Amino acid sequence: MKKSTRILHAGRKPELFHGAVNPPVYHASTILHPSVEAMEKSGRTPFEGVRYGRFGTPTTFALEEAVAELEGGHRSVATSSGLAAITGALLAFLKAGDHLLMVDTAYFPTRKFCDTVLSGLGIETTYYDPLAGAGIEALMRPETKVVFTESPGSLTFEVQDIPAIAEVAHAKGAIVMMDNTWGVLHFQPFTKGVDISIQAATKYIVGHADAMLGTITAATPELWLAVKTSLAAFGASPGTEEMYLGLRGLRTLPVRLRQHAETAQRLTRWLEARPEVERVLYPPLESDPGHDLWKRDFTGGCGLFGVILKPAAKAAVDAMLDGYSHFKLGFSWGGFESLVIPTSGHSIIRTASPWSPAGPSLRFHAGLEDADDLQDDLERGFGRLACAAS
Ligand SMILES: *Cc1c(COP(=O)(O)O)cnc(C)c1O
Repeated sequence: MKKSTRILHAGRKPELFHGAVNPPVYHASTILHPSVEAMEKSGRTPFEGVRYGRFGTPTTFALEEAVAELEGGHRSVATSSGLAAITGALLAFLKAGDHLLMVDTAYFPTRKFCDTVLSGLGIETTYYDPLAGAGIEALMRPETKVVFTESPGSLTFEVQDIPAIAEVAHAKGAIVMMDNTWGVLHFQPFTKGVDISIQAATKYIVGHADAMLGTITAATPELWLAVKTSLAAFGASPGTEEMYLGLRGLRTLPVRLRQHAETAQRLTRWLEARPEVERVLYPPLESDPGHDLWKRDFTGGCGLFGVILKPAAKAAVDAMLDGYSHFKLGFSWGGFESLVIPTSGHSIIRTASPWSPAGPSLRFHAGLEDADDLQDDLERGFGRLACAAS
């Protein structure tokens, strides 16, 4: 079966739910056991079956099965947000004295977690150039336990050579984690050497800007058990409505993503030809420096891209952004709506690789509005940019 078909089938068990196509939303803390013997038996395999609400319900298990299918991994664990998936995965594999290699272009709250919580626990982080590839070997230490990747990089969209990094990491006894939120359907982490793949499911999996959700998917039963055991020890328990919303969104992910990517492809081509634009950051574009790696490792794009403008005054850029009809100002992405955020200045922090564009930078999410309307919106925005500049 093709992936989009598997995503439709995964985790569905209508025979358990009176034939209903979708699983019910289980509201449960206490689960009743019919006998002392059954209760004791369930305690011997704490993460199998339905035992207590905190360990998950059939709604949780359905989502986790479907995400494991999406990612092509052994098994998944749902978390209460994408960031909780990242921090939960890191804490499952790092302890005092360990060393972490973190990509310099990581999602900013990931970096903040390393610099505050992990450093406080005595876990040292070294940031590395997203383009390091096999050169990451020079940074590996005997105590390096995890190499964390995110490709393309947050806000700046560098594509990483994940197979080359994984080969080095594995040879040195470290595991490879990836924030696979941008690739979602189009990057198969476990065929590229990734051991732990993370989704900010809040984005394209939920897909409607109405829930927070994350997932951690493991390549093997041992890695899965390590993640599950650690998360269970922390006691975080994502809500059951969110599980359902994630599952509901996932069923239509392939068709939505196709439209987001098609619109982004059209808008980025149009933008890169505009005189106001210095550079467009979107690996599916042939002109993008990461295009060859993207073409080798990804099977498609999504709606998220960056733009670097020619130098312009902040007031002119603000006037352009404030007046958009469709590209609304807001964090997150992956919902049906178009969004934009300014990314210049302090929002891009680098310590291992240079990033200093001459002009202001922006990040756009192409939503499911008609592409003609979105292009018109951008064109009128350039009118405001010119007006405010003169
Ligand atoms: C949004 C995002 C996250 C965090 O997800 P939340 O659900 O908002 O916590 C992590 N990684 C990337 C790449 C993201 O864009």
